[in-house]
Amino acid sequence: MAAERRRVVLATRNRDKLREIARLLDPERFKLLTLDDFDDFPEVEEDGATLEENALKKAREVAAATGLLTVADDTGLEVDALGGRPGVYSSRYAGENATYADNVQKLLRELQGVPREKRAARFRCVAAIVDGEREVTAEGVCEGVILEEPRGEGGFGYDPVFFVPEVGKTFAEMSTEEKNAISHRGKAFRKAAEILMAWDGGESSAN
Ligand code: IMP
Repeated sequence: MAAERRRVVLATRNRDKLREIARLLDPERFKLLTLDDFDDFPEVEEDGATLEENALKKAREVAAATGLLTVADDTGLEVDALGGRPGVYSSRYAGENATYADNVQKLLRELQGVPREKRAARFRCVAAIVDGEREVTAEGVCEGVILEEPRGEGGFGYDPVFFVPEVGKTFAEMSTEEKNAISHRGKAFRKAAEILMAWDGGESSAN
């Protein structure tokens, strides 16, 4: 007999993230819901000072509203030559309603003239898993270098300028599988999946 699938809410509306995360959680074990499965769910403001605070805040609010086990993530790009910026402000780097392209252009402008050996950066992702009783976080980090110009058509966000030396490609030149195998989010969600599989009690769904 097939094991029951546990319902898990992924606290995001970001389709790019969803595409990556959906491949990291075994569909035979988890039935993944997103905020789009709930009517009129209010936006959670990401006003924390750290990635962990933001991830926990999103997961707590969604878990409280849905009554379901919830996973939220927050990601930041930390660039050494910029003292760790944009970090927790990565999505609003070029302003409140900045597009991915606006943020990339601002990053390249700020790094103009900085030589390759000083362009080290890392993506950090914190996944928070919350139900009414317990909270656990899992972190994943991926080291790379910010290129002088975008390369590749895939991925999203800062992917076209984030080059991973061991692979010899930017994230935007990798398939989703290649990126997940080494990425900050892949690492954080593989840990999160292990935690979810061992999560006690709670409800599950057979459909
Ligand atoms: P969020 O707050 O976790 O949604 O992420 C902040 C910003 O970081 C996003 O708006 C993206 O621009 C960027 N970002 C997050 N994850 C990735 C990634 O895997 N690749 C490239 N950019 C990302």
